[in-house]
Amino acid sequence: MAKEKSDTYEGLARRYRPQTFDEVVGQGHIVRTLTKAIENGRWAHAYLFIGGRGLGKTTMARLLAKALNCKKGPTTTPCCRCDSCLEIAAGRDIDVLEIDAASNTGVDNVRDTIIQAVNTSAARARVKTFIVDEVHMLSTAAFNALLKTIEEPPSNVLFVLATTEGHKVPVTIRSRCQRFDFRPIPEETLVARLQTIAKKEKIKINKEALTLICRYAEGGVRDALSALDLVRSYNDKAITRKEVEEALGLVPHEEVQAIVEAISEGSADEVVSRVGSLVKSGIDPMEIVRGLVSSWRELLVASFERKGGMAEMSRGRIIRSLETLLETAARMRTSRFPRIELEVLLGRLCGLGLRDTSLRAIHEELKRLAAQTIPDDRNIILSGPPDDLEKQSRMKEQKFRGEKKAASADRLKGVSEEARLRRNEIRSFVQETSPLRNASSTPPPAPADSNSPKRRDAKKISGKRKAAREAVDPAAQEIATLFNADLISIEEN
Ligand SMILES: [Zn+2]
Repeated sequence: MAKEKSDTYEGLARRYRPQTFDEVVGQGHIVRTLTKAIENGRWAHAYLFIGGRGLGKTTMARLLAKALNCKKGPTTTPCCRCDSCLEIAAGRDIDVLEIDAASNTGVDNVRDTIIQAVNTSAARARVKTFIVDEVHMLSTAAFNALLKTIEEPPSNVLFVLATTEGHKVPVTIRSRCQRFDFRPIPEETLVARLQTIAKKEKIKINKEALTLICRYAEGGVRDALSALDLVRSYNDKAITRKEVEEALGLVPHEEVQAIVEAISEGSADEVVSRVGSLVKSGIDPMEIVRGLVSSWRELLVASFERKGGMAEMSRGRIIRSLETLLETAARMRTSRFPRIELEVLLGRLCGLGLRDTSLRAIHEELKRLAAQTIPDDRNIILSGPPDDLEKQSRMKEQKFRGEKKAASADRLKGVSEEARLRRNEIRSFVQETSPLRNASSTPPPAPADSNSPKRRDAKKISGKRKAAREAVDPAAQEIATLFNADLISIEEN
């Protein structure tokens, strides 16, 4: 019984922390590169690990330190029994220093703990290792001090810099490190991992419940295992979706579906009363937003697979709803009035069905879409409206392919894909609203140059269409120029 208690205290996340490279789940691309480097004795002196929390950055850093320092090493299969292995695993080896930059941001601290430590040779370990967590939190001065060391690293010194926000690490540092991006673990892989662990721990839990836990953990093993711990301590019967929802304070699935249904029908009263009783029952408003985000994401996926979601919603509306949800979610994290944020959100979601179809509103929406730039977390400095971005990134991609820089080319391909999607979204918006513009009865635009190609094309179309085209508000003309969307071709379609 006493043993049982101490086991629970240790926590699943700690007990199942990978001790060898082949126990690492979902980061195969990193494991392959690192083990190859160790086998060839060509490991880098500085690594940059980028990725969300709980994806195993520190674990991977310790594994690397173990592999290089094991008595039997350097080896890709550290023994896990020698003093080095045991002490590194416990995080108390004198030659493997773990520094939390979030609490050591001063330049003096970095100089003390890193620079001086580098100059004193390793006590026992072969490779003196510095694991700097949340490295983006270092001050500029601290980065400069670090840079000097990384530029000319003494042999037998290894730096592993870990961060959740790679773009905040100065380029000078990034360019001197070998970079690895930690990916969220795919749902199926994570569910399978949890199933194995649940079996070993004799936890009775069905697959639906495990899937819910994995979604809650957003692809992180550590968070998933902590959640499983919590759910298990909450009850010792067989665990289903319902128990997980209760233990983690999630919104019941059917309830989320009912709210989405009510929103799609525009029944604001029903939405408000359902959400009101959820909040009253003690559910965090943020959880309600999370539930809605995942529901809308499912609708979006279904719309791409042409299955048609449970609610008959256009893809445009689904995307706009998701954008609204994500904006609110970001704001709610720091808001002092989460409940009010939630209510405003619900109002907006219900209102999105009754879109403001005035030309001014359409114009505003298009300007907003065009002004959006593609977020740049890929180390690529590009910005501008989607059309330009797509061209820019395509050209650079080809250039990189020519120079055989496959990784950079692939990243750029991602950017151009994203730009293409954004452009299509704008196009479909223009087309969707085209009949509305044609129906408007505002004054005709100033006559265009009669020799322009557009004008010549216009002569071909029927008088009725021409009249409709000329009835278009100047704002719509501006929209057309803005997006190279030829009004005539839209009418032909
Ligand atoms: Zn060992």
